[in-house]
Amino acid sequence: MIEADVIIVGAGPTGLMLAAELRLAGVRPLVLERLPQRRDTPKAGGLGGQILQLLRCRGLLERFEAACTGPVPAPRFPFGGVHLDFTQLADPPMHALPLPQQQLEQLLGERADELGVDIRRGHEVIGVSQDDAAVTVDVRGPDGPYRVIARYLVGCDGARSRVRDWAGIPFPGTTYPEVNRLAQVTLPETVSVRGNGDLDVPGFGTIRAGFTRTGQGLLGVGSSPASKVVSLYTIEDETTEYDDDTPMTVTELQDSIRRVLGADLPVGEPIRLSRFTFKARQAERYRDGRILLAGDAAHLFPATGVALNAGMLDAVNLAWKLAADIHGQAPAGLLDTYHDERHFAGTRTMLHTRAQVALRRGHDPAADALREVFQELLADEQPLRRMGALVAGTDIRYPMPGSHHHALAGTFTPNLTLHTDQGITSVAELMHPARPILLDLADRPDLRRTTRDWQDRVDIHTAKTDQRPADVLLIRPDAHIAWAATLDEPDDTAAPALREALSGWFGTPRIR
Ligand SMILES: Cc1cc2nc3c(=O)[nH]c(=O)nc-3n(C[C@H](O)[C@H](O)[C@H](O)COP(=O)(O)OP(=O)(O)OC[C@H]3O[C@@H](n4cnc5c(N)ncnc54)[C@H](O)[C@@H]3O)c2cc1C
Repeated sequence: MIEADVIIVGAGPTGLMLAAELRLAGVRPLVLERLPQRRDTPKAGGLGGQILQLLRCRGLLERFEAACTGPVPAPRFPFGGVHLDFTQLADPPMHALPLPQQQLEQLLGERADELGVDIRRGHEVIGVSQDDAAVTVDVRGPDGPYRVIARYLVGCDGARSRVRDWAGIPFPGTTYPEVNRLAQVTLPETVSVRGNGDLDVPGFGTIRAGFTRTGQGLLGVGSSPASKVVSLYTIEDETTEYDDDTPMTVTELQDSIRRVLGADLPVGEPIRLSRFTFKARQAERYRDGRILLAGDAAHLFPATGVALNAGMLDAVNLAWKLAADIHGQAPAGLLDTYHDERHFAGTRTMLHTRAQVALRRGHDPAADALREVFQELLADEQPLRRMGALVAGTDIRYPMPGSHHHALAGTFTPNLTLHTDQGITSVAELMHPARPILLDLADRPDLRRTTRDWQDRVDIHTAKTDQRPADVLLIRPDAHIAWAATLDEPDDTAAPALREALSGWFGTPRIR
């Protein structure tokens, strides 16, 4: 007997985001998490990229901003040993919030609780099998083993996903033989910070602010004379496989600095210590029958700052498609577009994070020259904007089925300010319920009439906007544009094309 629609394995950021999105779409997911409590090992220090726009579309961005641990930093992002410096741009293409992963998981957990998601902590999934009708899940809970049968299962169980193994999905790629250690620590009185951020270390001399490369690796120092807190970063070639849940210690940091620098750097109290290794791996398939993968279980990227964005966007893309299937409304092939679209997006993220490895790992004069040339190119606005969009994932345009498309089809919807009979609103505000929208910006009653056949699942809004990107936008729950039309298209082709798009994405219309 089916007891759950969707079982989500893992209550990390991806699993929690997926659970909340499924609830919004009217599905009751069951989240099984092996850890009895939320983990407190520091992982990501912030959240950035396209996911912030999506959070705005759920009415959550302000809540997430309010929980940030510090001011939103100047838009300057590391990119493989160089920097993307957006500080000169009034509208930077990439934003990030200083929201450590523990706080992020807490917020996502609160949101899931508010929506009534069943999250069972201390329940480890120990076996999964599937047939044409269901997935059978063996669980070890606090009161002993039990079994649950569900229609679908999503492995949001992280880098070492066992769900991926049970589904027999290969995870090809590269593990780079390097370990990154990142710390924020106070400095003892004996170490002073110069006006330019350099450190004066007794018995050694000066350590430059920024990156110092030695034959043994790289030391990064970020400091300010106004603060006794310094950021330290080391990269060393090392093949040890660390467990992300084993915390780094101050001694481990100091040993690493000693190996890279050949000298001791005295440090005071630790504020944040973390360690990570880089892998470039992507699941060959994000779906095997009734089992799907999302987040780190589906992809690992060899650079920082992109994984949460990718994983949470996987969740948003998958949720409405799974829900449509469970409600019996999904058109043929809809669930397979999850793999098509998110594998495509993951490949794009892999492209630039692998390029970052090539930029970052070279320690010879040729590599220095490459970084210098790259940094010079990034002084120009156009390449800087292009790289920003690539890193943020805002340049993703999902491949759309069929041949004739408006330029906006497949892209993330612009957040237009809208004037309606009820007052001023925005596209993001209309997206809060996570339902598909037909947005009529040019008073096209023919297209509104066509959409009425789907009004049980597609909301229809009429509005005016100052800079109209199209007459009519059909927007999916993940805020990507499914279809668009402009005035220069003849009326008699627009309505049938819209009907085809509505059926293709949202299924057969209800009988009126
Ligand atoms: C030190 C460090 C720094 C990082 N910095 C950044 C950063 O700056 N920006 C960024 O975007 N990303 C960063 N990352 C990556 C980011 O932390 C991950 O991408 C993110 O945690 C992935 O989320 P997830 O939900 O997919 O998987 P996870 O967070 O790994 O969650 C998986 C969950 O599944 C549970 N689980 C596993 N197996 C089972 C099972 N059999 N049964 C039940 N539950 C199970 C686990 O306990 C875990 O809670 C960093 C990672 C590390 C380690």
